[in-house]
Amino acid sequence: MSIFQVATEIAPIAKVGGLADVVYGLSKELVATGHDVKIILPYYDFLKTKKLCAPKVICKSTFSCSSHTKIPVTYYDSKLEDLPLVLVKAEDKDHSFERGSIYGQMDDSYRFLLFLYLTMHYFETCEKPSLIHLHDWPTSFLAYLYKCDAMENSPLDPKIILTLHNMLHQGRTSKKPFEKLGIECSHLFKDDKLLDQNNPTLLNLLKAGISYADNITTVSPTYSKEIQTREFGYALDGALTQRKEALKGILNGIDHNYWNPSKDNSLKKEFPTTFQFEKIMKAKKANKEKLQTMFNLKDSKSPLFCTVSRLDTQKGPELIEHAITFSLDRGAQFFLLGSASDPLVKKQFEEVKEKYKGNPNFHMTDVFDENVARLVYAAADFIVIPSSFEPCGLTQMIAMRYYCIPIVRKTGGLADSVVDIDQDSALAVERVGFVFESKEKHDLEQCIERALALYLDKESYEEILSNHALQDFSWERSAKAYLKVYSK
Ligand code: ADP
Repeated sequence: MSIFQVATEIAPIAKVGGLADVVYGLSKELVATGHDVKIILPYYDFLKTKKLCAPKVICKSTFSCSSHTKIPVTYYDSKLEDLPLVLVKAEDKDHSFERGSIYGQMDDSYRFLLFLYLTMHYFETCEKPSLIHLHDWPTSFLAYLYKCDAMENSPLDPKIILTLHNMLHQGRTSKKPFEKLGIECSHLFKDDKLLDQNNPTLLNLLKAGISYADNITTVSPTYSKEIQTREFGYALDGALTQRKEALKGILNGIDHNYWNPSKDNSLKKEFPTTFQFEKIMKAKKANKEKLQTMFNLKDSKSPLFCTVSRLDTQKGPELIEHAITFSLDRGAQFFLLGSASDPLVKKQFEEVKEKYKGNPNFHMTDVFDENVARLVYAAADFIVIPSSFEPCGLTQMIAMRYYCIPIVRKTGGLADSVVDIDQDSALAVERVGFVFESKEKHDLEQCIERALALYLDKESYEEILSNHALQDFSWERSAKAYLKVYSK
């Protein structure tokens, strides 16, 4: 089986969030188990990094759908560690992939449709995959292209899988990007399976994938149920319910080598390879001291809470702010590593930063820096993840690798990966953190209180950390589930 991941992100070189980790981690596991996998992605300007093997030209071509659009394109071969990549370099006059970032441009629909048409062009002229795995709205329209458009009579009709990482972003688009590409599109705007539910004058690119992919997966079993409801489906719940036979939730993994606390250069002191409580506590202390020194926090013995997150409405900014206030009031420390793109949320946290300016128990940094993230996981005792929805969430799993206890809202993948320490119906070894259900501040406060109590109860604390060591969030487990879907 020749598997192509068609993606707009890959960790660590082109990463916005969890999607990048999934493309990287799943592909690594598939390669390790002997599968033929390639990842095709735009050749962004910021990819000129030492982490990539020097890209070599595979072929040069010209993409044209009409006499007035001719876009020169070069396809490059490269490798990220042992992962084969195909990089698509469009030489378009808009410099679509030379903008210094992945998303957030006014013409994102155009940019990613361009990438998809150039990817189709590659598949038609260079390499025919037997399985194509798409990720979220930027690539999901390829399912339509294969099933209904150019490749309709292709002798090698690949199987198409779409993974939904986040239903919030759907890629709604007018005719403009198609017209700019010189593509006749009036028929698209008559196909009910493509039209946006809320505004039928627009196409919904994510819906195209949901309607036309052979199989759909999403990144946790709970989220697969949630997205079939009005609250979490964002008007695509109907389209998903219609395809529920083809929909499966597979909890993401994390790459245990990539997130390895016993081999991590960002740490002051690495953790032991097996569970040894005293050594773990020593490593945590050393890393906490490094973080405290780096960021002018007081050298305190009290517990350190943290949040490592994109800061936007999905991540429960009100509750994050409340967790800061509440834990500081209780004498704890809080480290917030979070970058905001939403202007309102950005403003909210600028105010938080101002409010606690000079407080030796609080630090907030709004950079996106993986080295700092690693040190925070290793230094902190508790991580607060109060998301309003969370398709899977990786931070709770990474945190547990670094013996940092998660405090989470019961939603999506958080519900599937964190069992409360007091959940009687669960086995003792399964209990790893604190779980609250409602979005009320009171429920979060109770969890923080329980966390503070656990911190003082060394015996129970050790037991919970020993349960972290037993958790298997490896890609091995998730990749097996993906392979089942691939071979269905
Ligand atoms: P999402 O994909 O919604 O952003 P996930 O929990 O699935 O959330 O994945 C977040 C990933 O991004 C994790 O690998 C986390 O360590 C990383 N991350 C989030 N914020 C930052 C930051 N400010 N700096 C470095 N890494 C971050």
